[in-house]
Amino acid sequence: MTERYDLVVRGERVLTTAGFQPREVGVRDGRVEALVPLGSGLSADRELDLAPDEVLLPGLVDTHVHVNEPGRTEWEGFETATRAAARGGVTTIVDMPLNSIPPTTSVEALQRKVEATEGKRHVDVGFWGGAVPGNKDELRALHDAGVLGFKCFLLHSGVEEFGHLEPDELEDYLRELATFDGLMLVHAEDSRAIDRAPHAEGDRYERFLGSRPRGAENLAIAEVIERARWTGARAHVLHLSSSDALPMIATAKRDGVRITVETCPHYLALAAEDVPDGATVFKCCPPIREAGNRDLLWQGLLDGTIDCVVTDHSPSTPDLKNLDTGDFGTAWGGVASLQLGLSVVWTAARTRGVPLEQVVRWMSERPAALAGLRDKGTIAVGRAADLVVFAPDDAFVVRPEELEHRNAITAYADRTLSGVVRRTVLAGVDVDLDQPAGRLLWRGRS
Ligand SMILES: [Zn+2]
Repeated sequence: MTERYDLVVRGERVLTTAGFQPREVGVRDGRVEALVPLGSGLSADRELDLAPDEVLLPGLVDTHVHVNEPGRTEWEGFETATRAAARGGVTTIVDMPLNSIPPTTSVEALQRKVEATEGKRHVDVGFWGGAVPGNKDELRALHDAGVLGFKCFLLHSGVEEFGHLEPDELEDYLRELATFDGLMLVHAEDSRAIDRAPHAEGDRYERFLGSRPRGAENLAIAEVIERARWTGARAHVLHLSSSDALPMIATAKRDGVRITVETCPHYLALAAEDVPDGATVFKCCPPIREAGNRDLLWQGLLDGTIDCVVTDHSPSTPDLKNLDTGDFGTAWGGVASLQLGLSVVWTAARTRGVPLEQVVRWMSERPAALAGLRDKGTIAVGRAADLVVFAPDDAFVVRPEELEHRNAITAYADRTLSGVVRRTVLAGVDVDLDQPAGRLLWRGRS
């Protein structure tokens, strides 16, 4: 072999599109340029031999991250969020359009976002735009500016500056998106159903659960499915919690409706029965439901009804979590797990006999496809050399103060998790937390 690479990684278990294989990976100019049997003898300036307990994975792609900068940077910012991502084996994040001020609902606001990332990107960053009342005419311009798709709510979003769409408006917006094959991500809980549900005041988790019934999700998802069917547009159901909705999603997919679905680590790893009263770190919307519901979500993943697993990392400051009073009614709803997602899901998966390659497909390949990031999601010749050295049988205890995201709040404190991220490589270079090297990702160009 005369060719010389910038980096060669060698290991007995390299995750390729044909599963784990003994391989050498040759990287040049940030891309995988060779993927050959172990023993081929590729050479490079930097060579890395995996330890016997390590595997090589493609970097994870997390398409559901609320960075909140600019405007609510005290909740989370690009510096801290992308550090957490890198430490957790996530090499690409896609930022949600809300909770920052301004929300990403215009090209001007997108520009503010981009500026906010400068000098702070430890991993690659893409953006979702926001679809809110009054900005339908902005969507095309945002699409042309390079956002990867749009997010809307079907009920109050939790922040005043990001309004929600009624189902008829959703349909109207879907028709607009269909003209340029745009993607609409939907927070699918029905506002009428939530308004009529009992209020969630107080510290009892059961009462909070009753305030966000499955029926609210089911109703909203039915709307999303039918409006996608009528318009031919692409729609994506965010953070599915209600397993009741799985059969109708499966039917819609069989019918050819262009619908995809995600769920999140907390719905797969946690259960309502185990949430202590007053433990508002577990509050998120839709809520973590019962253990039986969780089992059905796993089944939905395994049978392909659910496409992917992303974190919905949505932190806030400690005061907004009402940690002192434990009042679920007014506590901020959001679970921060960007750094822990892979280990959380892997820990749960292995007890269910679900192989690691399947977990990685849900957390890397599928989210990359959802966001149209053709360069990402697998280790393959021609793709970005975003790589993670992972020790699946190693374990660690979650210490909140050791996490990189801005506020040391986590639903996983003191849990022992399987799977340690030992090294994260972005475009062929080890992530160095003193030297942010992440790029911006734009639709059609990444
Ligand atoms: Zn979210």
